[in-house]
Amino acid sequence: MTTNLLDFDLDGLAAFCEGLGEKRFRATQLFRWIHQRGAREFAQMTDLAKSLRDKLAVHARIEGLPVLTQHESADGTIKWLFDVGNGNAVEAVFIPEDDRGTLCVSSQAGCAVGCRFCSTGHQGFSRNLTSGEILAQLWFAEHFLRGHLKTTERVISNVVMMGMGEPLQNYSALVPALRVMLDDHGYGLSRRRVTVSTSGMVRMIDRLALDCPVALAVSLHAPNNELRDNLVPLNKKHCIEDLLDACNRYLEFAPRDFITFEYCMLDGVNDQPEHARQLVELVQRHGGTGVPCKFNLIPFNPFPQSGLTRSPHSRVLAFAKILSDAGIVTTVRKTRGDDIDAACGQLAGDVRDRTRVGERIARQRTIMLKPVPATVAARDEE
Ligand code: SAH
Ligand code: SF4
Repeated sequence: MTTNLLDFDLDGLAAFCEGLGEKRFRATQLFRWIHQRGAREFAQMTDLAKSLRDKLAVHARIEGLPVLTQHESADGTIKWLFDVGNGNAVEAVFIPEDDRGTLCVSSQAGCAVGCRFCSTGHQGFSRNLTSGEILAQLWFAEHFLRGHLKTTERVISNVVMMGMGEPLQNYSALVPALRVMLDDHGYGLSRRRVTVSTSGMVRMIDRLALDCPVALAVSLHAPNNELRDNLVPLNKKHCIEDLLDACNRYLEFAPRDFITFEYCMLDGVNDQPEHARQLVELVQRHGGTGVPCKFNLIPFNPFPQSGLTRSPHSRVLAFAKILSDAGIVTTVRKTRGDDIDAACGQLAGDVRDRTRVGERIARQRTIMLKPVPATVAARDEE
């Protein structure tokens, strides 16, 4: 069996090349061919000695993931479904904006955390992706898009690990993949433009700070432990206070001086003014000094089995106002690509569940608040 070179960061590739009796600078050349130029064949790499190309052809390969489908949204968002074998498939989404191109990348086939409001969570968990499978999404998308847009310039300027899976539950594959994204000989993305989003793996946040401190987004979704236990089951293991402590420790290493908190707005569940006020109290008082942060409110993107609905826009705005009035920078995330089920939390791919997570969430009930008074509901309809 040959070795897939997409699995290596530059140090890994250098070690592999050394094993073939080649110097490190050869690995750098090879790495640039793969990631900067999107080469698939060693024969293309004309500045490498023929003897090296022949050796590589025997021992190595550059193997991406088969694309099962590609969908393009009316707003320019593109979603790909990649085959990762044995009936599993994962999704990646390209989101073009005026000043940037963002790729949302998957880290696992499924997810074992089992958040109530997440389509991936409902599918259960099959397996971790390898570093090569994580990178193959970026490698393919970047070089496909350059061809599609007829440019030789870089198209993807930002990567967010917000596709399927909990990236910090696949740490050993994640870190080499991040290193390739950051490497000047790879994709050359700055650490501020690569974001890991986590549902709150406290110990792994500490490790990431030391190994590869990129921008961090934390999926908070609730202002107290009772509600968060229900929405993000991981909270039962790592409570909000421990998570916020980890955020503050991370900030000493982070490329930005704030943590982004993501908060999915669920109608009648976590979207009331008192929740916003509790959040302000929490992030401004925690540990005495609070946690420097921004909030990203995500209108819930519905999917058939969720049994949940999106908060009305007026309620999202009222929630955002309470946070901003308290001096917290708050944005409401634009929904992109929902016509092709590519919006946050809608990625489902195909997962051969090997756990009972999917079944468990289907049985679980979400704490619903009292019905919203008719007058408020009426205003929301406007
Ligand atoms: N597992 C990681 C990253 C993937 S999810 C995490 O949970 O952070 C990326 C973001 O989408 C998270 O903030 C997640 O909570 C949010 N999300 C999940 N399902 C959603 C849905 N149905 N609507 C809106 N956002 C959702
Ligand atoms: Fe997993 Fe994130 Fe979905 Fe929760 S929100 S189930 S952690 S992918």
